Amino acid sequence: MNVLELRDVSIIYQNTKEAVKHVSFAVPEGKIVAIVGESGSGKSTLIRAAIGLLPAGGELASGQILFGEKDMAAMTAEELRHVRGEGMAMIFQNAGDYLNPRRKVCDQYVETLRCHQSMTKKQGYEIAKKMLATLKLPDTKHVMNAYPFHLSGGMKQRVAIAMAMSMHPKLLLADEPTSALDVTVQAQVVKQMMDLRDKMGTAIVIVTHNMGVASKMADYIAVMQNGELKEFGTREQVIYHPENDYTKKLLTVVPKLQGETDGE
Ligand code: ADP
Ligand code: MG
Repeated sequence: MNVLELRDVSIIYQNTKEAVKHVSFAVPEGKIVAIVGESGSGKSTLIRAAIGLLPAGGELASGQILFGEKDMAAMTAEELRHVRGEGMAMIFQNAGDYLNPRRKVCDQYVETLRCHQSMTKKQGYEIAKKMLATLKLPDTKHVMNAYPFHLSGGMKQRVAIAMAMSMHPKLLLADEPTSALDVTVQAQVVKQMMDLRDKMGTAIVIVTHNMGVASKMADYIAVMQNGELKEFGTREQVIYHPENDYTKKLLTVVPKLQGETDGE
């Protein structure tokens, strides 16, 4: 069973520019798909379309996006609201910047949790604090009581990642969640995302320009260039037997992920 399926998806901006061209692939339940490819190749556009949150001016020009067996385009506003949160959650590129600067971390975190799951404020507070600790944020009590503008960019990013992960969605979409983080923290976030999948069966689509992250995490790898899906296959197929020249070029530069060789 697929949690997400893209069928011949094309996306245009302002009726002119085709940012995604006839892309088809599926995300099986509980699997991790990494989307790699150069800047401007349509990666963000594609995953934002998957959760129905394209930037202004962007629209689905052709094709279908199915969540489970349901066509996203045919969903009512109510169904979409339900899908976002319980069904899928998204970690945007620079997600930390999307936190409300005028509200304490604990208030917005707990409120987000309570919007989607029934729990007391105290329960929400404990879940949030635990997830922040899991993502190796120091002094979680301080972080919970802070306003986002008191936190560093990397800390805000981890708060946003923690919030999305605490929702326990069926599908987590993550747009370069770790690129703003230093390598040690990056490895920790990758590990936590993989744990989430192992424990909760969360399927993940992660956009990354880091082939090291893709090769560590992914069951399947999608390679995008210029709006087109150049290659899609299992991690082994794409890493060890790439068919496309562009994929081969990407593979010549694979940064090592810290922690990869320490016997985890
Ligand atoms: P990536 O995430 O791979 O860097 P994007 O999906 O951001 O690529 O962009 C794909 C193409 O769509 C690019 O040519 C980009 O300029 C264009 N694009 C992205 N966002 C917008 C937007 N909000 N309005 C118009 N064009 C956009
Ligand atoms: Mg992008």
